[in-house]
Parts: sequence; structure tokens; C-alpha cells
Amino acid sequence: MGARHLKTAALTANVATNQKVTDIVKGVIDDIKANGDKAVRSYSEKFDKWSPESFKLSESQIQDIIAKVPAQTVADIKEAQKNVRTFAEAQRATITDVEIEIQPGVFLGHRNNPIDRAGAYIPGGRYPLLASAHMTIITAKVAGVKHVIACTPPIAGEIPYATVAAAHFAGADEIFLLGGTQAIAAMALGTETIKKVDFIAGPGNAFVAEAKRQLFGEIGIDLLAGPTEVLVVADDHADPFTIATDLLSQAEHGPDTPAVLITTSEQVGKESIRFADEILKKMPTRELAGTSWRDYGEVIVVDSLDEAYELADVFASEHVQIFTQNPREALDKMTNYGALFLGEKTCVSYGDKCIGTNHVLPTRHAGRYTGGLWVGKYLKTQTYQEVVSEKASGEIGRLCGRCSRAENFEGHARSGDLRAYKYLKDPHEW
Ligand code: NAD
Repeated sequence: MGARHLKTAALTANVATNQKVTDIVKGVIDDIKANGDKAVRSYSEKFDKWSPESFKLSESQIQDIIAKVPAQTVADIKEAQKNVRTFAEAQRATITDVEIEIQPGVFLGHRNNPIDRAGAYIPGGRYPLLASAHMTIITAKVAGVKHVIACTPPIAGEIPYATVAAAHFAGADEIFLLGGTQAIAAMALGTETIKKVDFIAGPGNAFVAEAKRQLFGEIGIDLLAGPTEVLVVADDHADPFTIATDLLSQAEHGPDTPAVLITTSEQVGKESIRFADEILKKMPTRELAGTSWRDYGEVIVVDSLDEAYELADVFASEHVQIFTQNPREALDKMTNYGALFLGEKTCVSYGDKCIGTNHVLPTRHAGRYTGGLWVGKYLKTQTYQEVVSEKASGEIGRLCGRCSRAENFEGHARSGDLRAYKYLKDPHEW
């Protein structure tokens, strides 16, 4: 029978960045390129009504801020950070340097060298997304990044105390209270007071994602981690109330969160819609969650789990929860996603906040070509070679000469010829 919708999205999700956002971001970047700190301040005033004496927090300001964070929150930050650090260290241990002797006397290898300076963007327009500090700063530090600067915006003119604490405990070398395009541009281009970084990681809204896209090249970026997405694959054993709860948990991020259920059971689909409508009535964040669910919520019934996995791969959603009897089979059946959450006993919120996997994940179909943030993104895999045998050098020189002339590169050919002459006494004609 094929896939059929029980609920259709009113708007098309995952459209390319809209032109208005592109133009605003370009204007801000151009101005900051030309006018540095003065422009940064003007956009912080305009977009965030925020213009402190210095955007950078001093050591004593940081300590005063941390003192205002409840002890339980500090303990929870530290526990979540321990999980993120432990997993990042385990991932780092899998990344090894390589060296082989490809033929006698010829050595090829690579080293994994950390980036020098990284910028960590911690979103804070709507919610103090302090968990992003664990994800971006700890991961960079485990990779060996020497200097990490963190930027996070004020929320409605207030300092996000717990976010500052999280950035500090995570190991940030400098913390700036600055958000949006102005933060990304200042870190990428450098200003009188913010030293340019080599790489920027971190999630954010459409302005942040677009700024990273436009500045890519000037700096490296992790990925386009834009507005969040969730997709659930469920069979007829799944609990519709849990499905509805988890779909809405992501929908509260903003008004534009695609929340999709693909199920083999019409009953589960219908019940999930009913529960979502019921939960929304009493949900404190129903304005955002309800808008997302109304405009971008989809419920699709399919004939088989294989069809469900295939369709889920087309969505390539940032978060995919598997509510089936054998959730682990998704590891073999699916390849396009940011992160998988296997079974009812875990959920996207665990990954978002504390379990230890990274929550900076690809959106807008980017799961087709990249995974999420991890230590590997902060490392440069750089090759080297050494030839210690004269015979091998001369022989490769002959091959290099012929390969180069096939491409009309006479200069390249001569570098090869020269070594064939030096080490094998080949005659040369130039
Ligand atoms: P944010 O920090 O990303 O953005 C806030 C900034 O946006 C402000 O500082 C302001 O400068 C700028 N801004 C707001 N309106 C503007 C306008 N009209 N013109 C120019 N600039 C403007 O915080 P947010 O808005 O709360 O967004 C956080 C986003 O991060 C959410 O969409 C969430 O879904 C996403 N997120 C994604 C991931 C992921 O891995 N993909 C993870 C966590 C969060």
C-alpha cells in the first residue's frame, strides 16, 4: 500500500536558508569585517539590547557568577561533563597515527594534530543551552586544542549564570557574552579585542548556522547544526504516550522543529496524535512546541519496518528514536541520521543534556554526509612521507617523471628525473 499520512506538515521543513536571513547575516559580517569591535557592539545592542563595558568576562566576574549558581546545578553540570569527557576520551583513543613502509625504504604516514584555536558557540536566545558548553568545549580540550574561546548571548538582557559556569568548568580559556552572527563573525574574523580563531563549532538558530556557512573558508566549521529535528520509528508495540512526549520534547526548541513519526501501526499513529494534542494543552512551552507540531509535525504509516527505515533515511533527521521490539537492528538498516536513540529506555533529551554523546548534530539533511561533533572534528589528519633508500627514490623519480609528462608538467618531471639521475645514474636530457 506504501506510505500514507495521518498528519501532514503544513509547511515544508528543511528548506534552504531563507534569503532574508542570508542578507541580514551578510550585512553584519561585512560591517564587522570593516569596523571590528564598533560594529560588534552595535549589533549586540540592536539584536540583544546588550552593551556591557566589556563583552569578555574577567576571572573575578566568572567567580562571582559561579557563586550565584545553585549547588545542585553545579553538581549536575559536573556529572554531565564527566560523561561527555569520558565518551570523548574513548573516541579520541580510537584515532591513531599511521605509518607504513609502502616499499623498502619508503615511509608514508599521518599524524592527527589538534587545531590551535577554536571558538565554541553556546546558544542562548531562548533557553540557556548550557549543555552546548560541555559538547563544544570539552570535546575541543580532549582533542588537544590549545585555546578555546566561548561565546554565549545574554538572555533577555540577563547573564546566563549556569551557562557561564558550564563554560568555565568545561575549560574555556576566555568567555564572551556575545551572541548570534556578531559572535560568529567576531570569532572568525578577529577584532581589536577578540583574537581570530581557526575553527568554530556549536549549534544555533538560523542566523548562527548561516553565519557559519558564509564564513566557512575563513575558518573551519564543525557542521551546519541548525534548528533541531526529531524522527521516531515505531512498531505496534510502541507506547504512543511516550512517543508523543518525546516528539514534543524536541518541538519546544523553537517554532520550526520538524517532528516526524513513521510507524507500521495506524493505531500507534492515531493514538500518538491524540496524546500530542492532549499533552500540548498543559505544556508550559506549548506556544513553541504547538507551533512546530502544527506546522512541521508529520505522522506516516508504512507497511513494514524496512520501509520505515528506508523513509527515515530519506529524512536524514538530526535525532532518530527507535521504538521497536528490536531497536538495535536500526544500526544495520539506517545510515542517514545525526544520532540514534535505541529503545524506549533512552530518549533525545538524554543525549541533549547529560548521557555523554555529543548533542551538536547535523540538521537539514546533512546527516547524509556527516556525523555530529566529536574529537575528530578538532583534529587535522596530516600526512608525511620519507624516502631513505637511494634506489627507491630513483625508481619513484622515473615513475614521477613519466606521470608528470603525461600531464604536461615539465617542472614536476624534472624533480623526478633529477633523483633518477642522482641515485640511479639515469641520463637526463635537459
Ligand atoms: P542562538 O544563541 O542560536 O541565537 C540567538 C541570537 O540570534 C541572538 O544573540 C541574536 O543576536 C540573534 N538574532 C535573533 N534574532 C535576530 C534577527 N532578527 N536578526 C539577526 N540576529 C538575530 O539561540 P536560539 O535562538 O535560542 O537558537 C538556538 C537554536 O539551536 C535552536 O534553533 C535549537 O534548535 C538549535 N540547536 C541545535 C542543535 C544541533 O545540534 N543541531 C543543538 C542544540 C540546539
